[in-house]
Amino acid sequence: MMTLWTTAEIARATRGRATLDAQIGGISIDTRTIARGDLFVALTAARDGHDFVRQALDKGAGAALVSRIPEGCSEADPLVLVADVLEGLQDLGRAGRARSGAKVIAVTGSVGKTSTKEMLREVLKGQGKTHAAEASFNNHWGVPITLARLPADADFAVIEIGMNHPGEIAPLARMARPHVAMITTVAAAHLAAFDDLFGIAREKAAIFEGLEPGGTCVVPLGLEVSDVLVQAAKAAGEVVTFGADEAADYRLVRVDIHGDTTVVQADARGQDLLFKVQSPGRHFASNALGAIAACAALGCEQAVAAIDLGHWVPPAGRGTRERVLFDPINPEQGIDLFDDAFNANPTSMAVALEMLAAQMPQDGVGRVKHGRRVAILGEMLELGPSEAEMHAGLARLAPMASIDVVHMVGPRMAALRDALPAAKRGEWYETAQDMVSRVRHLVDAGDVILVKGSKGSKVSLVVEALRKL
Ligand code: ATP
Repeated sequence: MMTLWTTAEIARATRGRATLDAQIGGISIDTRTIARGDLFVALTAARDGHDFVRQALDKGAGAALVSRIPEGCSEADPLVLVADVLEGLQDLGRAGRARSGAKVIAVTGSVGKTSTKEMLREVLKGQGKTHAAEASFNNHWGVPITLARLPADADFAVIEIGMNHPGEIAPLARMARPHVAMITTVAAAHLAAFDDLFGIAREKAAIFEGLEPGGTCVVPLGLEVSDVLVQAAKAAGEVVTFGADEAADYRLVRVDIHGDTTVVQADARGQDLLFKVQSPGRHFASNALGAIAACAALGCEQAVAAIDLGHWVPPAGRGTRERVLFDPINPEQGIDLFDDAFNANPTSMAVALEMLAAQMPQDGVGRVKHGRRVAILGEMLELGPSEAEMHAGLARLAPMASIDVVHMVGPRMAALRDALPAAKRGEWYETAQDMVSRVRHLVDAGDVILVKGSKGSKVSLVVEALRKL
């Protein structure tokens, strides 16, 4: 086990008291996945983490960060006692950041944070020891855990910063103290908590408040709210822009969406870049160009970054493609399935539908066949008072013209059902479970299928059912 911290160091960082000296190899908040030597952080969420400390220690945890001696434990156990566990974790995150010589990139945005974080990891790992947030660890506990896990000798760190409510981003950005802070895009996500898109933009721009002196802000151009972002960025440091807008420093010149790739032509500060992303979607092109700009701001060669991006594939549930065979010995009897069931809002629905519209349904040996383009859509959640209009509005998107049939799940999707022309209107079900029981009737061999919805719409159940056809 590599030592990440000692309990004495943790006690010093958290102004706490260690009962015993111990070496710590990692940080965990979950006894189901805890590894030998980890510090178990007894956070309180639905349950009080103190109830799991004994179990964590029995499973080999190196120590536990606690605010009292938990049931079944004593001073003879390896504990670090602090006034408040969450604050203790945040202090440890700050200490992890403070002792590190790593170059830090922080990413926020309404969508695309996790995808872009993974692109940055892919590029930077070719340049040095790279540490990046696990999964979507992007909130008041996810960011400090990522920083507390930062190995002291890492060259690069990629931190994801998210928000559900106003005021969340600035303190996390100050904790991460990035050398480069990037905003992927600003869209109507979590709109319920904000007045309008400008309110969301101001909140995203708060990431620049944590920028290290001399740092760089990477900002999308061409959005309705780009001015707000650029103004805030200018006040914080260097500004580098990206996007399809003519004035962008990193400009998307052409994006070609193919069956399973996106080919991107870009002008990167006067240098022509041509690169391929191993997944179809305009949003991947935009995220990738922003990632190249962010890496270049750290001194990476942008052409090399573009080549390394060719190895990136989307994280699970964010547009991954797979072939599902109905009959294992007959490759013609199957479907192409895009799993985009992790998240949805009007912006990401639009790019996903564009991607589906660009598909040429094929059989297993590559001949173009007359299969259908099928969208299976779950609800978009947290959109606030205009949600019905936003669901209905999907019917008016240009790519809808090339989609053969739309099946829908959930009460909010009734607005889309009513807005769709009868020829495209597929089945509508109250719940994902209802759809699962009928799923075989919704698809045919040769179809290309997109499944997309907010996580809470549970369309991931439909993906699982389709995989088992
Ligand atoms: P969360 O905070 O919920 O984890 P996220 O911001 O990390 O979300 P991703 O998980 O990377 O975002 O992507 C979620 C979905 O958003 C993707 O499946 C894709 O459909 C869409 N998406 C990603 N990037 C963009 C973009 N730049 N523009 C529009 N849609 C995008």
